[in-house]
Amino acid sequence: MSEQFIHTDGTILPVGIIYCIGRNYAEHAKEMGGELLAEPVVFIKPATAHAMSGSKVPIPSYSNNMHHEVELVVVIGKDCNNVSESEAMEYVSGYGVGIDFTLRDVQAKAKASGLPWATAKSFYSSAPVSNIVTIDSIADINNCYIELNVNGKIVQSGNTSDMQRSVPQLISYISHVFRLRKGDCIFTGTPQGVGQVVSGDKLEAKLDNVITLNIEIE
Ligand code: MG
Repeated sequence: MSEQFIHTDGTILPVGIIYCIGRNYAEHAKEMGGELLAEPVVFIKPATAHAMSGSKVPIPSYSNNMHHEVELVVVIGKDCNNVSESEAMEYVSGYGVGIDFTLRDVQAKAKASGLPWATAKSFYSSAPVSNIVTIDSIADINNCYIELNVNGKIVQSGNTSDMQRSVPQLISYISHVFRLRKGDCIFTGTPQGVGQVVSGDKLEAKLDNVITLNIEIE
């Protein structure tokens, strides 16, 4: 079975390209020693990075430091080219909560030598996402609570109101540069509090207490 976004209203979309935004929350940019930038930081994961809630996620053998980054995920329901911010939300099929798993040691090496991040960010199962709720399930997507628990303890919490770029701004930007397709999604960046996961850890991510994602580290 190929990777799918399963919506609470029964809609099923094959997972397309997973777009990820870096440094979208000021406090996370600060903890990584970086600054907010004038243009969005965008990278891509393939559909094979997708994993369902309830999955076990393996740590790749070439890393000793895999980090969690909990993020709001926006799923695109219709093809979307050069769309304006005011029209952007018409192309959304729903929302989920996801974890942008990152091999921090591999990423640090790539950053230091000016090389791409693909092996640090885009490996198998590096982008688990919850089931997808329809857009009317979330009262205000630009003011929405996001949380990650590891082994029952809260390690990340934030609010989408702290994003430097809002959901419609991100959709508009990506639709101009890449053109979005039905089944693509956007990981919208992580709030502060990223940290290492180890084998056996149990992760529970939540968006506004409406959606939950459960992952175990293999
Ligand atoms: Mg991220």
